[in-house]
Amino acid sequence: MGRRKKIVQECEKLMDKPEQIRNIAIAAHVDHGKTTLSDNLLAGAGMISDETAGQQLAMDTKEDEQERGITIDAANVSMTHEWNDKNHLINLIDTPGHVDFGGDVTRAMRAVDGALVVVDAVEGAMPQTETVVRQALREGVKPALFINKVDRLINELQEGPKEMQERLLDVIADVNELIRGMTQDYEDRDWTVSVEDGTVAFGSALYKWGVSAPSMAETGVGFSEVIEMERNDQRKELHEQSPLSDVVLDMVAEHFPNPLEAQPRRIPTIWRGDDESELARQMREVDDDGDVVFMATDISMDPHAGEIATGRVFSGTIRKGQELYVSGTAGKNRVQSVGVFMGGEREELDRGVPAGNIAAVTGLRDAIAGSTVSSVEMTPFESIEHISEPVITKS
Ligand code: GDP
Repeated sequence: MGRRKKIVQECEKLMDKPEQIRNIAIAAHVDHGKTTLSDNLLAGAGMISDETAGQQLAMDTKEDEQERGITIDAANVSMTHEWNDKNHLINLIDTPGHVDFGGDVTRAMRAVDGALVVVDAVEGAMPQTETVVRQALREGVKPALFINKVDRLINELQEGPKEMQERLLDVIADVNELIRGMTQDYEDRDWTVSVEDGTVAFGSALYKWGVSAPSMAETGVGFSEVIEMERNDQRKELHEQSPLSDVVLDMVAEHFPNPLEAQPRRIPTIWRGDDESELARQMREVDDDGDVVFMATDISMDPHAGEIATGRVFSGTIRKGQELYVSGTAGKNRVQSVGVFMGGEREELDRGVPAGNIAAVTGLRDAIAGSTVSSVEMTPFESIEHISEPVITKS
């Protein structure tokens, strides 16, 4: 059996085990390294070759994006990662990195439960970092922090351990100030990040190495080793000893909530329908036998399959042949196929996609990004407002 087919089968198995699923997005200011990090994760999970990682092709699915070098659409990939002796299904949604696409970022956030916030160590938190963190928190999405381009502190800025540490702590403090401001009214959201907790990782997406408190304990590669190896041009060794993909995917598996933990908290935050209803219960409990509720976060065009709606299944199991309501339109649409994205390619699955997962659905001709698609008529997920750019203040 081919490697890809094996991965698809593994993903299929994990789809029915919500406690082993993590739905995540990577959120960052433009150029801070979101695409390079995504490629690292895909390569680490065996979805693309190690050599391809860093060439920024996997997530940039549109030709014009590749030409312009910015990601403007929310693509989606699924991968598996072993953590704590258990395999995990990681569904990664790509969020638009450009400032004009705030609405799309929010929509992508609605489909996920964890947001990996990427901040360039040299530039620090930027206005758009603040915007994406706010958008995540507004959607009840838990943050974790990856501070990228640490190689530049060592090689370009020639910083020593003390300066580096101060700079990194400043970045963490800035991000925490945002998190604290947005979560203080919620008892169930003690979400500030810290190195000690393992909710912060550092590294270089370009050179594919990373470190975190748990990784340092496991591999023995800490800051002094990183500085020494970077200076001695031993980046390949550093990647082999402390690969970024393992460090980040471990952090994802350990610290981001699974759908069973996330949906009870998130449904009341993101859905304005009747909290006491049977449908609300099904969504909170991730009931794969319940009514189908799917929220489309992105519509893309496939030359063969036509329009593909990507989004989160909050309840029920979405299957080929189902006739589903599309919010804001009359009549129903018939599901032609359902599947998942693997390394940017869509893989159709005969079995259907259960609650708690991200699905790629064809046949929903009336759906647009933001549509609620369901087997019963229901209050749609609220309309999405654009958040303007606030200015971050350095403390
Ligand atoms: P995005 O806009 O957030 O998707 O950022 P990209 O992943 O496209 O990266 C922007 C630029 O920063 C590219 O030229 C990358 O090669 C570079 N870059 C990304 N990660 C690192 C890193 O860890 N170190 C260095 N030195 N450059 C990086």
